[in-house]
Amino acid sequence: MEGALLEVVEQALEVRPLSREQALWVLSYPEERVAELVGAVSRVRREFFGARVKLNALVNIKSGLCPEDCNYCSQSKISTAGIQKYPYLGTDEVLERAAKAREAGAKRLCLVASGRGPTNGEVGRFTETVREVRRRYPELEICACLGLLKDGQAGELKEAGVHAYNHNLNASERFYGEICSTHTYEDRGRTVNEAKSSGLSPCSGALFGMGETDDDVVDVAFALKELRPDSVPINFLIPIPGTPLSGKTELTPQRCLKILALFRLVFPDVEVRIAGGREVHLRSLQPLGLLLANAIFVGDYLTTEGQAAQKDLEMISDLGLVVESAGERTLPRERAGSVTLKGYSG
Ligand code: SF4
Repeated sequence: MEGALLEVVEQALEVRPLSREQALWVLSYPEERVAELVGAVSRVRREFFGARVKLNALVNIKSGLCPEDCNYCSQSKISTAGIQKYPYLGTDEVLERAAKAREAGAKRLCLVASGRGPTNGEVGRFTETVREVRRRYPELEICACLGLLKDGQAGELKEAGVHAYNHNLNASERFYGEICSTHTYEDRGRTVNEAKSSGLSPCSGALFGMGETDDDVVDVAFALKELRPDSVPINFLIPIPGTPLSGKTELTPQRCLKILALFRLVFPDVEVRIAGGREVHLRSLQPLGLLLANAIFVGDYLTTEGQAAQKDLEMISDLGLVVESAGERTLPRERAGSVTLKGYSG
């Protein structure tokens, strides 16, 4: 392994931060040698997460009807995408989806609502549903993603049994104004901090493929690091017709792998999850993505379909990895095995 690559892997194994120059170097790795990068960085994933893969399932509990103008989103007020639009789902429907998520092996159920943020009435309705899901499926971790939170709402969610709150930074501070004008980058960071201070496990990640530069990728990675999230979902843009970013196809499978390698190095011992766009952008290289990330979504995304859960389970098993069970901890308090820094194997 070349010196600079060994150095970044060693730093991550010792949970020492990468410099900006090192982060940019990872993103500039030659595309034709990306397998070498994946092989080296996969040691970090293996060290902290062993062979485990955490499965998450997503339920779009409120779709469309959003007054915000996020360029990438099919549910925004400026999107003309032909998506389903509906208000908060009832408890029975969420319970049905929760049952399917358990069948597929999901450990976490992510309940996602469109909109700037919930009204107090919506939080009340949501928490009733959560209590019922928790009663029937106590082993499922519930993650809520309801947008910007107002005073007291995070506490109500925590009290109802919500485990985590997702709110992505999505982009660098510099680039954020180019993808959304109805709320700010600071609004997003504030909500993650509010969720965290109410005792919810913070989940915050990013979306790539929107025209960002390498500097933007590094900026958002480092900004997320400052938020100290417990899980970091990495999305790759699905350029949905009817959205302003429709037709934007700048990502290659190699670029996606380099971004995942960077996030594994920046977050060596934190859950890194491949989220939307996995099938579209990693294509036949999806298994390599799992050598870097330790979590994926199974089933469909918000308004687009994912591949069948069975296919994901086969991929995990073909890689010699195993689905993390409900009782297992995702955050590694103890390391998965011992480390030798004299090169890598496998
Ligand atoms: S990302 Fe969320 S806030 Fe932005 S338009 Fe979509 S649903 Fe609305």
